[in-house]
Amino acid sequence: MATSGRIPITLTRYGARQASTAGASESDKAIASRVCPFARDSPDEDAVSAEVFPPSLDHDERIGRFLKVSAAQVASDDYVIDSSSGGMTSWFVGRLLAEGDVDGVIHVGRNEDDLFGYRVSYDMDAVLGNRKSAYYATSFADAVSRIEGDGRRYAIVGVPCFITGARHLVRERPALADQLVYFVGLVCGHLKTDAFAQLLAWQVGVAPDQLAEVDFRVKHPHRDAQDYSFAARRRGRAEWASKPNRRLFGANWGHAMFQLGACDFCDDIFAETADVVLGDAWLEGFRQDWRGTNVVITRSPRLQEILDAGEDSGAVRVWPLSPDEAAKSQAGNFRHRRDGLAVRLADDIAEGRWVPLKRVQPDAERVGAKRRSLIRQRRALSRTSHTAFAAAREAGSLRAFMRVMRPKVNAYVLTDLGPVMGRLTIYAPWLARSRFVRNSFVRSILSRARTRSTGT
Ligand SMILES: Cc1cc2nc3c(=O)[nH]c(=O)nc-3n(C[C@H](O)[C@H](O)[C@H](O)COP(=O)(O)OP(=O)(O)OC[C@H]3O[C@@H](n4cnc5c(N)ncnc54)[C@H](O)[C@@H]3O)c2cc1C
Repeated sequence: MATSGRIPITLTRYGARQASTAGASESDKAIASRVCPFARDSPDEDAVSAEVFPPSLDHDERIGRFLKVSAAQVASDDYVIDSSSGGMTSWFVGRLLAEGDVDGVIHVGRNEDDLFGYRVSYDMDAVLGNRKSAYYATSFADAVSRIEGDGRRYAIVGVPCFITGARHLVRERPALADQLVYFVGLVCGHLKTDAFAQLLAWQVGVAPDQLAEVDFRVKHPHRDAQDYSFAARRRGRAEWASKPNRRLFGANWGHAMFQLGACDFCDDIFAETADVVLGDAWLEGFRQDWRGTNVVITRSPRLQEILDAGEDSGAVRVWPLSPDEAAKSQAGNFRHRRDGLAVRLADDIAEGRWVPLKRVQPDAERVGAKRRSLIRQRRALSRTSHTAFAAAREAGSLRAFMRVMRPKVNAYVLTDLGPVMGRLTIYAPWLARSRFVRNSFVRSILSRARTRSTGT
């Protein structure tokens, strides 16, 4: 986008979108280096947020600048059932549209050529019809190119690196600055390649070449918000097949399967350059509510005003949170993004590899030996998942993927949980189904083990 397509973005064999600088001119490479959040010439999140937000905002090293931190949820059950979490992301962009703050919303939704892609929505039906998280690699280049110069104003929704990339883009193309007027961030653990949807779908009986549609977050009334299912639809069929996420291999975010390589170098969890950021309130008290509840951090007075008006009208429920609670809701994410990044940077530098400049300093000793081992195993797991899945897909064999990955996941779980809890976790799916395990105490231990194995 920044180079008008002279540095093309193509789909790799592993289902990731990748920029190709082969044959690009030095000036195009310089533009790309100023725009890509993982390049060395682009300003970091602290520099961007200092430029775009007033100095009066509070600052917390973990969540960035903030006006207010809250938990919130759309009040209507009919609404939230079709959202990933508390429904606040689609609600915010819907309000911006309804109140005339923007003419359109640039966000990810269902796509005719692919499962998901960036699209532009101009009415409420389109905003509401394209809800829920897309754990899928996308690019906003085409969508933003289509709206550039049309004289209308837009909100753009994205994970942290996309929002920072969009902020860099408007510096390069000032005409766009008058068009992209609201930046709506999603908290992010890491971004997945297309293979994530395909692996989960394969396990519910839909092979990759048959896959028409997926739903990563099917809610179950009266179960914990984290206890959601994955569903997939085969081409030419109307019915959906689904399974609880906790029973799907590869669904545990802690194992980082199919994570994009760039995510290994990200330290921005709360989309620090976005005007508002929304995530899941994975906190005691909220986790138990099947509807889902968002963590909401506002950095724009106008968006805070919209939230306050929604609370006053009863359209949304809002609870105050502290920055500590917001950070606690993403505890695993911080271990991966901050501690993990320090170790990965140190490892790469020791091996003579190029690394981007990050706010986190390289330091392999930042954590103890066990966490260091987990960080390294997770990185290896992630890398192997790409090649193993591409080979399995080409061979048409899901088993081939399991054969490569299961021993690695088991080793990771044993390091993480120790020999007793680790083995219980590994064998939990089989043990829980066994008619010999009738003892309620044993069942409660198994249930705890299974819950631990699905968290991020
Ligand atoms: C890759 C990824 C990783 C995430 N990791 C975490 C995490 O570790 N912890 C956490 O708390 N939350 C995480 N989230 C956010 C979480 O999944 C929910 O998206 C968020 O809580 C908003 O829920 P909601 O009910 O408010 O949104 P909804 O009301 O369901 O609306 C979602 C809105 O976001 C848009 N959207 C969905 N996916 C994308 C995408 N990939 N890019 C751009 N726009 C999109 C939709 O178009 C829609 O407008 C992640 C999201 C993504 C996409």
